[in-house]
Amino acid sequence: MKLYAPSTIKQIKEQYDFKLSKSLGQNFLTDKNIIDKIIEDSFIGEDDLVIEIGPGIGVLTAAAAEVAGKVIAIEIDRNLIPILKDTLTEYDNIEILNQDILKTDLNQIIESNTEIDGRKTKSVRIIGNLPYYITTPIIMKILEEGVKADSITIMMQKEVADRIKAEAGKKAYGALSVAVQYYCSVASVANVPKEVFVPQPKVDSSVIRLDIRKDKPVELFDERVFFECVRAGFGQRRKTMLNSLSGVCGLSKEAIAQVMQSIHIDSMRRAETMNIEEFALLANEIYNYQRG
Ligand code: SAM
Repeated sequence: MKLYAPSTIKQIKEQYDFKLSKSLGQNFLTDKNIIDKIIEDSFIGEDDLVIEIGPGIGVLTAAAAEVAGKVIAIEIDRNLIPILKDTLTEYDNIEILNQDILKTDLNQIIESNTEIDGRKTKSVRIIGNLPYYITTPIIMKILEEGVKADSITIMMQKEVADRIKAEAGKKAYGALSVAVQYYCSVASVANVPKEVFVPQPKVDSSVIRLDIRKDKPVELFDERVFFECVRAGFGQRRKTMLNSLSGVCGLSKEAIAQVMQSIHIDSMRRAETMNIEEFALLANEIYNYQRG
């Protein structure tokens, strides 16, 4: 059965009386080349554990199971569980969990799968064609919880992928770019037109791969101060750093001006011109200032 064929989706809907849920972001992928590209660029090996977010009817799940040691697919929609059991019946290396990804302890899953068929698990690869309504919460959950995965290859709205990839000075650059780039190096995998989904979404998509860094790009005295500066800086994009940051970590406007002068960063600059290194320098100086 060609799982990716639009006719298969139609047949499944009829056979199981399955209704696609718009609110769960169910736009199923129907392009074999894109499926192959996602799997290829995830660099999945035979001793790898794959965790898939939102398998739908299992197009990516089946393709991943062909190359991985084991695939664990996490799907929130209980109506899809009996369907997945049927569509993936030929694979004995797939486990399906009927859970909300945002409430799933991924590290616990990883710790329970340190061996696959008696062999040590080599890498943990997260993949998924994400439900677009919770793309950012899913990514930030994985990164902030320090999930012990090696890479995350995910499809999302193109506009969100552009924000994640953006460099300082670009229009799309913002708090999301800084946060994701702090934890990961970002690689483009594919641009995907909206026509290859059933039903067709309103916007185009992109696939990116996030390779989780073993070593962070900057040294931080306190991550919380760094993220507070980033959040405050981009909170009101039109404001200068001096105005946006006043109040951060309880520091007055005068104190922020003094800190910025001491590290030679013009306090009239706006957050979108500040790269990660500059945010780190600023956060570390604020941290030192606070300690006296
Ligand atoms: N992987 C399939 C594909 O490419 O055709 C389906 C992708 S569809 C864009 C997103 C999938 O995520 C749907 O199957 C949806 O039910 C599921 N989903 C939505 N919210 C979820 C959540 N919080 N946890 C787990 N799965 C979720």
